[in-house]
Amino acid sequence: MEREKMVEKLAQVAGRENVLASETDLMLYGYDASLYRAKPDCIVLPGSTEEVSKIVGFAHKEGIPIVARGSGTNLSGGTIPTRGGIVLHFSRMNRILEIDTETQRAVVEPGLFTLVFKNELARYGYVYQPDPASEKVSTFGGNFGENSGGPHCLKYGVTTNHILGAEVVLSDGEVIQIGGKPLDNPGYDLTGVFVGSEGTLGIATKIILRIMPKPEAVKTMLAIYNTLEDAGTTVSAIIADGIIPATLEMIDKLTIKAVEESIHAGYPLDAEAVLLIELDGLKDGMERLAQRIMEICKKNNVREVKAAKTEAERTQLWAGRKGAFGAVARLRPNYLVCDGTVPRTKLPEVLSKVMEVGRKYDLPIANVFHAGDGNLHPLILFDERNEEELSKVHAAGSEILKLCADAGGTISGEHGIGAEKMKEMFFVFTPRDMAAMRKVKMAFDPEDIYNPGKVIPEAEA
Ligand SMILES: Cc1cc2nc3c(=O)[nH]c(=O)nc-3n(C[C@H](O)[C@H](O)[C@H](O)COP(=O)(O)OP(=O)(O)OC[C@H]3O[C@@H](n4cnc5c(N)ncnc54)[C@H](O)[C@@H]3O)c2cc1C
Repeated sequence: MEREKMVEKLAQVAGRENVLASETDLMLYGYDASLYRAKPDCIVLPGSTEEVSKIVGFAHKEGIPIVARGSGTNLSGGTIPTRGGIVLHFSRMNRILEIDTETQRAVVEPGLFTLVFKNELARYGYVYQPDPASEKVSTFGGNFGENSGGPHCLKYGVTTNHILGAEVVLSDGEVIQIGGKPLDNPGYDLTGVFVGSEGTLGIATKIILRIMPKPEAVKTMLAIYNTLEDAGTTVSAIIADGIIPATLEMIDKLTIKAVEESIHAGYPLDAEAVLLIELDGLKDGMERLAQRIMEICKKNNVREVKAAKTEAERTQLWAGRKGAFGAVARLRPNYLVCDGTVPRTKLPEVLSKVMEVGRKYDLPIANVFHAGDGNLHPLILFDERNEEELSKVHAAGSEILKLCADAGGTISGEHGIGAEKMKEMFFVFTPRDMAAMRKVKMAFDPEDIYNPGKVIPEAEA
């Protein structure tokens, strides 16, 4: 269909001011936080479920691809319109519809920023636990699409454990309800199927969240190490001792350098690695648990353990972790964020192999990751203007994911598959496994209009 006709039709639904199609608009919506680029045919900013339903119904009739977009911070090409079509950007659907502390539920629209909601909840003494480091700008639609994680997911679980249901627009424009406010919904667990489906099965227009009372006490510690291996063995030793901290994050030397040059979080520049360990829960018994963690750190050759004494010190330690991805961007013009998981006990071994991959391709690698989950994030630094480096970075990224898969882990902990990791799906799934996934896609989107060309590869690589 010609672009002008498409724009005219969509303007009738959403208003002319909410349909974007200038060359600049198309360029701006042609990228996300991955290395992929491709332009859509136009962008629509819907204002209601009804408008989404009409737009999708039109696209379905005309066979036009639809890509849902929150803030475009995903790291795997999930919002790149690789086959053109319409980008549905949810920035206008960003309201908190309900906060009910008695039933510990909330209902939000998909374009709401995660942190805006959490700040509002704090006024009630409540928290929403998933905390992607991008939460200042990531949206609930994006969190839903990617099944996002974050530091606190070690203790509390990832997004899917905190989304209880949603209103979803199917690929023919029909609106359905999946899950609901009760804890255990009868029938198939469609919420489990849709959360993490990266906009390929359905589009969420309202999302039901589980909220929790704020923990009574929090204790944040920074454990400083002279070797990555000692930091890695401490992680599995803490969990093996039966302690599940709220967070257990690792930051390596190169990342510390970047963080200290920009954020000044107070991480020691001469350390090989630091662990950011946080306990939360009842005040009673917390000191005893902290002492036990310190003993475990000592057994694993920690150099020093510092505890935040004030809220300001805690905020400063967290500013380093939360700003680490941004800080690393100062080191080289580009970086590729790998996202693989390994069993915790394999952390030291796999980390050392990851660094070998960096040496093999002559590319620096910085590491900042959810160590407690075994969720690695090697950041491979490069310059995309250098074609040789660009091709090396893809090969290095793929090799790292293979290392994770071979160690008994997998190729994504939280950043999804998108367009970027489709061939790596074969590292962990058989063609038969993938044929079963394709059947699910066919059941919900037989015409393949929702985010086509993502997540499930067509044929064996
Ligand atoms: C600096 C930085 C730090 C990050 N840290 C973390 C982290 O700690 N943990 C983590 O998990 N991720 C992290 N990410 C990745 C990213 O921020 C998350 O995946 C986030 O949830 C994406 O939100 P978004 O609004 O930007 O979604 P987008 O990137 O716009 O979309 C993500 C996916 O969701 C789909 N989608 C969007 N809206 C809807 C909808 N309404 N219904 C259905 N599908 C939809 C899209 O089609 C796409 O496939 C980080 C990214 C950056 C750049």
